Amino acid sequence: MMHRLSPARILILPLALAAILLASVFGDRAGAQEAAKNIFSQLKQPREGQSASFGTYARGCLQGARALPSSGEGWQAMRPSRQRHFGHPDLIDFIGFLSQQAQSIGWPGLLIGDMAQARGGPMKGGHRSHQTGLDVDIWMRAAPDYTLSAIEREMASSLDMVAEDGRSVSSLWTGEHAALLKSAASVPNVARIFVNPAIKRALCDETSGRQDVEWLRKIRPWWGHRHHFHVRLKCPEHSSSCENQAPPPSGSGCGAELDWWFTADARVPKAKSAAKPLMLDDLPAQCRRVAEID
Ligand SMILES: [Zn+2]
Repeated sequence: MMHRLSPARILILPLALAAILLASVFGDRAGAQEAAKNIFSQLKQPREGQSASFGTYARGCLQGARALPSSGEGWQAMRPSRQRHFGHPDLIDFIGFLSQQAQSIGWPGLLIGDMAQARGGPMKGGHRSHQTGLDVDIWMRAAPDYTLSAIEREMASSLDMVAEDGRSVSSLWTGEHAALLKSAASVPNVARIFVNPAIKRALCDETSGRQDVEWLRKIRPWWGHRHHFHVRLKCPEHSSSCENQAPPPSGSGCGAELDWWFTADARVPKAKSAAKPLMLDDLPAQCRRVAEID
């Protein structure tokens, strides 16, 4: 027997197909099936509203971000094409403050690397953190005494502060670098500063025997970080949905804890986690609104 389509079926079929198509385009909730990094990297303007950091450094977002001007009194923003020069106003203030400190130690200014995307959130490459507008990478190279061109900002590179064997600082390390890190770590709302273990060791050696080294506690050894240091601020006031990390362990962090970084164990590169990318639903609930196109 022939199975012929009745007129009613002829009508239902395209309707059903259209419904399936629409569902796959829009999802049950927009973006639910999309990696959060794909959504946040497309959003080029801050979400309006009271400035607030939501969630944690590696699982969060940012509302009411401020853009760092490309040049200012004592800083120049590098790699503008990456569009990662947004931050919480606290971070913009911190950069202004540290730029003045840099000038007072004799640098013409700072070169500012990645901060956050316009609405924070996960990025397509380069960082797991930097999601809440409270992290900034600062180059280990003084700004020149002129304004860099757009091409120079894309092409110039920083300096490698670590010797080839990874155990000590390179010949490019100076007292100004140490003074700048001390200034940064002494700012009350700085939570941590990540540097290469060889840099932490240089700071420990240079201050050994001294008592006033509370600031060293915030300087944390981490893999990489040869060409820049990474400053992380504490959650801003009035950001009740921002989650701080536990403070660093007490003490300067110069003894056995630092020695571990120079063992064979530490030198095995950390396996890249095969974890699934963060989805919008993995971020704090407020980030769904932050990610909406307004
Ligand atoms: Zn960083």
